[in-house]
Amino acid sequence: MYQAPRGTFDILPKEQAYWRYIEQKVVNICQLYGYERIDAPVFEDSQLFSRSVGKETDIVDKQMYTFKDRGGNSLTLRPEGTAPVCRAYLEHGLHNLPQPVRLYYLAAIFRYERPQSGRYRQHHQFGYEAIGDGDPTLDAEVIDMAWRFFTSLSLRHLSLQLNSIGCKKCRRQYLAALKEHYARSSKNLCSDCKTRLKRNPLRLLDCKKRQCQPIADSAPRSTDYLCSECEKHFSQLKRYLKLLKIPFTLNHRLVRGLDYYTRTVFEIQPEKATAQSALGGGGRYDDLIEELGGKPTPAIGFGAGLERIVLNLKKESAPIPPLPRPQLFIAHLGDAATEDAVKLAASLRKAGIAAVIAPAGKSLKSQLRQANSLGFTKAVIIGEDEVKSGTAIVRDMTTSQQKTVPLPQLERELK
Ligand code: AMP
Repeated sequence: MYQAPRGTFDILPKEQAYWRYIEQKVVNICQLYGYERIDAPVFEDSQLFSRSVGKETDIVDKQMYTFKDRGGNSLTLRPEGTAPVCRAYLEHGLHNLPQPVRLYYLAAIFRYERPQSGRYRQHHQFGYEAIGDGDPTLDAEVIDMAWRFFTSLSLRHLSLQLNSIGCKKCRRQYLAALKEHYARSSKNLCSDCKTRLKRNPLRLLDCKKRQCQPIADSAPRSTDYLCSECEKHFSQLKRYLKLLKIPFTLNHRLVRGLDYYTRTVFEIQPEKATAQSALGGGGRYDDLIEELGGKPTPAIGFGAGLERIVLNLKKESAPIPPLPRPQLFIAHLGDAATEDAVKLAASLRKAGIAAVIAPAGKSLKSQLRQANSLGFTKAVIIGEDEVKSGTAIVRDMTTSQQKTVPLPQLERELK
């Protein structure tokens, strides 16, 4: 028997209500804030990700699904959503539009991870990007939108974690201080952190290993090293968030797992956060468009994992609106009745009445049993007598009450 590949799963019909519910909320929130949808290909030139996400990140270092196509091109299944949007922004000259350009996506994301609850090899993200404006009002908008999105899903017990990791200029000084701090305790670091100290020191703060916690907690804070512009940007953002009454927690260890971030970084976490519990995160990436060959273009974005949202909706037993289902079941007995049933189903559907025909060759009893177990509220029954008299029986499946209706009146009766 074949199985879905490790770390992937099927979204069966009984699960679909969660997904459609979230998607509807996505569409609503994006419309409310003026973000337009963009869909990029599932795979891109591999270099797009190594150049943007960063060679020293876990994603590029060990999680990408990279392959050579038959033409010898190195392609990678999208491991995140921001770089493809930036590539499209440049490729289609979206910088010629009034700025910022506000875009959103819903996309499958692929990372070769160790699968566990809330961590998969294929997951889905809702993300959005505001490209072409560096003002902190935009940071506030993007955070406000994320916060409102989760509130609209009726998810409670969430916290907004916020930090500023500065710009290229001030980051250098900060990293020097961070390295110095860690070098003093290098003996006590986990093996991953020993590598991070050499290759990607900012990620040291993200380590979840117990032995590294005291060192990370006592590390210098990026917010103490911000240059005057970054400092001003951050304090304006905090002011806007207070104006908007969005509660936030300053978290000096929040750095995010992708290298392109500058200044603002934020995450939405459940109150009891674990390593794979962040529902979404984002931040500014003011250098990325330039890095990809464009003019200097400030930008900010956010991404949230839909699987984790579904997990949290279930955990909180959130009420999910059911999906519309056909309510009418057409039972039929005998060849002539089957012909009438086929015709009837077609004409009802034409009139906008959703109907399902019973499987052929079954007794009436077993057809009605199926209607019951599938949750139909109404059935139309056609047998030999009904064929002769040009009628059908309409049965209320909950009360078992029946009445005979001439076929020409059936549509009106059912409506
Ligand atoms: P990132 O692109 O790593 O910033 O992740 C953004 C969001 O996507 C996270 O907050 C999670 O909700 C979700 N996410 C990231 N990686 C995975 C994964 N492997 N499985 C499921 N969800 C994920």
